[in-house]
This record gives sequence, structure tokens and C-alpha cells, in this order.
Amino acid sequence: MYSSNKIDSFVEKSPILKEVIDLKPVVWLNDKKKRCSEMPEFLIKMKDIQAAERLWKRFAPFFVKAFPETEATNGILESPLKEIHKMKELLNYGSPKIEGRLFMKCDNALPIAGSIKARGGFFEVLHHAEELALKAGILNREDGYEVFLSNKFRQFFSKYKIGVGSTGNLGLSIGIISAKLGFQVTVYVSADAKLWKKDLLRSKGVKVVAFAGDFSEAILAGREKTKADPLAYFVDDENSKKLFLGYTVGALRLAEQLKKANIKVNDSHPLFVYSPCGVGGSPGGTAFGLKQIFGDNVHCFFVEPTHSPAVLTGLVTGEMSNIRVQDIGIDNKTEADGLAVGRPSKFATSVSEYLISGIYTLEDNCLFILLSQLMDTEKIFLEPSATAGLNGPQTIAKTGYAEKNNINMNNVTHIVWATGGDLVPDFERKEFYKRGKSIAK
Ligand SMILES: *Cc1c(COP(=O)(O)O)cnc(C)c1O
Repeated sequence: MYSSNKIDSFVEKSPILKEVIDLKPVVWLNDKKKRCSEMPEFLIKMKDIQAAERLWKRFAPFFVKAFPETEATNGILESPLKEIHKMKELLNYGSPKIEGRLFMKCDNALPIAGSIKARGGFFEVLHHAEELALKAGILNREDGYEVFLSNKFRQFFSKYKIGVGSTGNLGLSIGIISAKLGFQVTVYVSADAKLWKKDLLRSKGVKVVAFAGDFSEAILAGREKTKADPLAYFVDDENSKKLFLGYTVGALRLAEQLKKANIKVNDSHPLFVYSPCGVGGSPGGTAFGLKQIFGDNVHCFFVEPTHSPAVLTGLVTGEMSNIRVQDIGIDNKTEADGLAVGRPSKFATSVSEYLISGIYTLEDNCLFILLSQLMDTEKIFLEPSATAGLNGPQTIAKTGYAEKNNINMNNVTHIVWATGGDLVPDFERKEFYKRGKSIAK
């Protein structure tokens, strides 16, 4: 933890930090946000997103064979975009009333991983596997990628190791896909990782190593162990461009879905997107992709728990990934395990700094209430982390953001990015739901 002098100097520069330290829910609007015409050059460009989409297409035949649940979509992993009328009606018992239409991007239902990590996590491993096979001369990009399931390929990959540090969904996604390809994969988890997640991984042939301490320490330990081995590759949630790139493809797919549903995005039809945020990779990647497509007409907001406002702390202090929430006395203890992150991603934060419209924080209790409300109204189960965007439209409406930026909200489309849930076992779903109901009483 930093000295009180140092913390005071941060607070003096940005008074909102006082409320953040006091664990109050806050809304922060980003005054560094730039118009698209003034955006700096980023390392990732539209052509990289399109190249990532082509990699997914090459691997489609692999998915069909390896995971029969992807047969119906010809091996393309995608989730529905759903209008949630009933939830909107319920939210509108509160104030202010939500203007425009309310949709949910249901990444809780992404195949295999049941979370948004099926985008970033899978992409990074597939990219690595393809690169290894190309370098070894056993693959051409024109080949049918079913070959990745052949004995020859699995034997080839069994020489190589993959490591990742994660409390949950990232570990699940990397573990499942790496084991399927034949890699030796180790997931380094924090002490508080759920037993069912560890069991699930072990059942797929994944090695699980638990560390005392939080997620950042699991990453640190995993990174050091993996880096010592020349045949090993570490998926680094705190600074990965590949994870980020995998998430950007979600934006292309969403744009297609909006088009199919006849939903316009232009000057008079703005798009507002609310994404739960951990290290900032998944919300940053989707925001980046959406900005490439919709420019200034898309407005992206991140949501963090009051006890783990990692990206908010990095951006507000200007310290970016050099600061952890623990450095300013916040405990990083939240039940939203996808968001229980003390330090933001270096790469993602450097991009989001200019893109995002703002960040708001909310209390764990609020996540559980939203969880039970969504079950009651839409019969959709989300894990606690994934519900964070549901009160976005009302939270942002209260700030005067639209008025300040001359945005006409009559025809707005709100998209709440639901980031995970389908792998959560029944007993835990029931507990979460009960908890939401009892808090709401
Ligand atoms: C990983 C995850 C997030 C956040 O993604 P980051 O890249 O860490 O910001 C949000 N919700 C769920 C369910 C997740 O698994």
C-alpha cells in the first residue's frame, strides 16, 4: 500500500478517488476520450480484426468435429442478441425510465466456455497452435483444420506446454481448448478459486495449481514458472494483445446481428454499450472493435465492483497498470469472480484511455439483485459478474452524459454485455438467486 501522502496527492488531483477509496458506487466520465478523427494510432487495426475473423473461419471445421454442440452453427462460436422487454419493464419501476430499446448480448451462452473468454482465450490458444504447426511445416493455411484432431497433431502439441493464471473463466477457457488440442496445460489459480471450477478442469486433463493470494499473484507465479521453460507459452491476462484481438471479433459479429435485426447505428441512432470489466481486456477489445465500425456513434461504458475498481484506479490516477487497487487501500474482495482484479491490463488500458465514455462501479449486493431480477423476468441465468451492465442505462442517464455531448437519446439502442454464466452448476445458481431475492426484500 502507498503512503498516505502519495494517496492524498492522487485524491487532490482527482477528487472522485476519495469516494472510490471509501467504496462508494461512483460514475466517472472520461474527459480524455477522443473523437475518432483525433484518435492516436493503435497497434491493432481493422485489418488485424479481419485477420482474426479469418482464423476463426479456418478453425470452424475443427470445432464442428471437436465440439459437436457447434455443428448447428458450422463451427462458428456466437451468441444471441436478445431484446429484454420484461427486464426493461421491471427496471422502469425505478427511475429514470430507460429511453430507447434494451438488448442483451448473451455471451453467457457462448458454446463450450459459457463466457466471453470463448472469444479472447480460445483465440490466443488457436493462434499459438496454428503458429507452431505452420513453423513445424505440418500445416498449410488452406488445409482442412480437422487435422488438429489427428493423432499426429495431438502428439506434436503434447511436447508443448501452456500456462495461465486465473481465478475462473479464463482458466476454464484456456484449459478446455488447450487440453483438446493435446497441449500440457497448467492453470494457476488463486486460493479462493471455486472447487467446481478446479474439478471441471481436472476432469478435462488440465493441471490445476492453487496459490495463496489473489489473482495477480497467481498470474505472477504462473508467469515465472512458465517462462523458465522454452517449450511453454504463457497466456498473460495482464498484458495480452492476442486476448484483446480475440475479443474485438465480437464487435464484428454484433454489427452483423444489428444489421440483420434492422437496427440502425448513426448520428440520430446512437449505440450505448455496458460491459463488465476485470483487467479491461474483454470490454476494451469489444469497445475497440465497435469504435472501428461505428465511430463516434457508439458510446462504451465499463462496469467494475466497488471492491475491485482496477481500470478505474489506473485511469483516474494516470498510473495505468502500475497501480493496484490494494495500493490505495481497497481489498479487492468481491463475489464477482470475473471482475476480482486488482491490477488492470497494460495493453488494454492504454487503448481504453481514449475510447471509453466512462466507468461506473456497483456493490456486490446489486449484482445479486440484478441476477434474480433477470431470472424472474427473462428466465436467463447470468453469473454475478455478468449482470453488472444491466443498470447501465439508468446509471448513465442520471449523469447528464447525453445532454453534455449533444446526443439525441430518442432512438438509442442499449446493449448490456452479459459475459458469462452457462458453466455455473445448478447448486450455485440456486444460491446466487436466493441471495438476490433475500437482499431485494
Ligand atoms: C473475464 C470476465 C470479465 C472481464 O473481462 P476482462 O478481460 O478481465 O476485463 C467479465 N465477466 C466475466 C463473466 C468474465 O469471465
